[in-house]
Amino acid sequence: MKYVSTRDKARQVDAAQAIVAGLSHEGGLYVPEDFPSFSADRIESMAGMTYAARAGEVLSAYLTDYTRQEIDECVAGAYAAERFGDDPAPLKAVGDMHVLELWHGPTHAFKDMALQMLPRLMTRAMKKTGVDQQVFILVATSGDTGKAALEGFCDVEGTQVGVFYPVDGVSPAQKLQMITQEGKNVHVCAVKGNFDDAQTGVKRIFGDDAFAKELAEKGYVLSSANSINWGRLVPQVAYYFSAYADLLKTGAIRMGQEVNFCVPTGNFGNILAAYYAKRMGLPVGRLVCASNANNVLFDFIEQGVYDANRPFHKTTSPSMDILVSSNLERLLFELCGRDDAQVSAWMQALRTGGEYTVDAGTRAALQESFSAGWAGDETALAAISRVNAECGYTMDPHTAVAWAVAEQYRKATGDARPMVIVSTASPYKFGRSVLTALEGAAAAEKLDEFACSDELERVSGLPMPRTLRELPTKKKRHNDVVEPASMPDEVRLWAK
Ligand SMILES: *Cc1c(COP(=O)(O)O)cnc(C)c1O
Repeated sequence: MKYVSTRDKARQVDAAQAIVAGLSHEGGLYVPEDFPSFSADRIESMAGMTYAARAGEVLSAYLTDYTRQEIDECVAGAYAAERFGDDPAPLKAVGDMHVLELWHGPTHAFKDMALQMLPRLMTRAMKKTGVDQQVFILVATSGDTGKAALEGFCDVEGTQVGVFYPVDGVSPAQKLQMITQEGKNVHVCAVKGNFDDAQTGVKRIFGDDAFAKELAEKGYVLSSANSINWGRLVPQVAYYFSAYADLLKTGAIRMGQEVNFCVPTGNFGNILAAYYAKRMGLPVGRLVCASNANNVLFDFIEQGVYDANRPFHKTTSPSMDILVSSNLERLLFELCGRDDAQVSAWMQALRTGGEYTVDAGTRAALQESFSAGWAGDETALAAISRVNAECGYTMDPHTAVAWAVAEQYRKATGDARPMVIVSTASPYKFGRSVLTALEGAAAAEKLDEFACSDELERVSGLPMPRTLRELPTKKKRHNDVVEPASMPDEVRLWAK
């Protein structure tokens, strides 16, 4: 299977090349030239497989320049019990919803599902493509990607990893997770500004040919671990198949029955993977895109106008505080009939004026698969409290946004198909917000971040992950803070 750029279809590469490069040279994103198709029998057979085996099925259909043995080694390493416990992606019945928990990996956010795979795919891709330089992974993070990338690439031979996070845009636990990271090849720096500033800074570095040349002379080639990298996206397709297989296994559905997914969305990687699963033949009904107060995607799905010129809100679901959702470009490419010139024009309009409007055909195609909703902080925190009281289940604020939106969707449409809520973080990554939801602001205000987590453990009965419990005692190793304009200089310091 070949991959083409969303901005230049004539540009064809293998999966390994797409994974090493991250972004196509002219700024486009790599997408598969077509979608592998899974028969009903093949999907049904996944019910009897482990998560790693299910992931192996999906990945081998896309990564055809990897041997099946290489893929099996990658999935066995990535989803090993010492990293993810017995089940990397358990599906839980909660009230009248199903919750797909994707946060049982080393950093307790769903980013681990992909970022434990990416370094394994990347090192093999480097061999395949004959890269003899070190790969320098640059990441802009709204909180969870950074730590998951650090954990995934830490001490991986032939790689360096550098993470930029917005100085006041991540939770205290997220920040501590990153600045205490150990490892010989890891670099972390705060950026004055919000996530979009950090992401724009990283994109600018990727687009700077002179800078690339400078790094090449030092022996480095830049790559990305953000969800624009195909190697980040493809592992995510697997868990939609896994959720469906688990519904079959427990008898909640029959083969062929359609299931809806509601996904708390930021950069549009997670929900795009669900769309790819649908295109491969997974019986998916609607994909419900859930946003927080940064509801640019809600407006886009409803109206076909993407307008990033709006106030940026800091919310209790910071990993979704995003106004420019990079992976939407991949969806647009599919929806507009793979018209690379059209996609380039929209992205150009977004870059220069902060907005674009899609044609009626593209909008209709969008609304054929996607619905959208959004929930502000109050609504999300109320959902945490209600679901805890009614079902004894504790959600993090991102998952709670999806829960609230799924309820709104059901109420508005009467759609009674089974609904899977994609749960993206452990409640302990956002202990203060979750405790505030459960016990009220007064209870949480008296406590520091870590006392909040202790109290949350007492109230929720959910065991706190050990690595999060140990955080306050760890040494702070990475304390740099820079203006966005100085990000290239920081990378120069790292790439000695
Ligand atoms: C990254 C993240 C999201 C958003 O996922 P996208 O793929 O960027 O849409 C949602 N929730 C949590 C906890 C995250 O870390």
